Amino acid sequence: MMKYVDTKVVFSELPNEITLAINISGCPCACHGCHSSYLAGDIGVPLTYEELSRLIQANRGITAVSFMGGDANPAEINRLAHWVKTQTHLLTGWYSGRSQLSSDIELSNFNFIKLGPYIDELGPLNSPTTNQRMYEVVISREVDENNNPIYALNDITACFKKSV
Ligand code: SF4
Repeated sequence: MMKYVDTKVVFSELPNEITLAINISGCPCACHGCHSSYLAGDIGVPLTYEELSRLIQANRGITAVSFMGGDANPAEINRLAHWVKTQTHLLTGWYSGRSQLSSDIELSNFNFIKLGPYIDELGPLNSPTTNQRMYEVVISREVDENNNPIYALNDITACFKKSV
């Protein structure tokens, strides 16, 4: 069961969005220089659909929800993002500490995805030397063999740096 520790409304994590950031525990990434090492523990409250709905209702005015962490269970992140996409008007984001996108993630459930571990000497997403990447999910002009839209990742890290 995925758990979260706390939430915060933030203004820079997803470009131009008022974002409810949900800090998820049980992080398996063990980044050297991690700023939130307490998130490695199995702590907090289960992040159910009901709890997610309650958090959204309690934070009126937000334009997006971002899952901060959750690399121990990307399939659950995918399910929760799908719920937000289909049950609300909000955009969705995911902050992953992995360099590669999990195969459990369906891009259609997300608007933004950040990839990459935190590496102290390279700095966070707004550092000129960062290894991390912020992507916007875009719909390509092509369709697949079943006439479904094809989603792709567009690297907007440079733009993100200017906005923070
Ligand atoms: S992804 Fe890395 S920086 Fe973020 S909480 Fe996990 S160990 Fe810390």
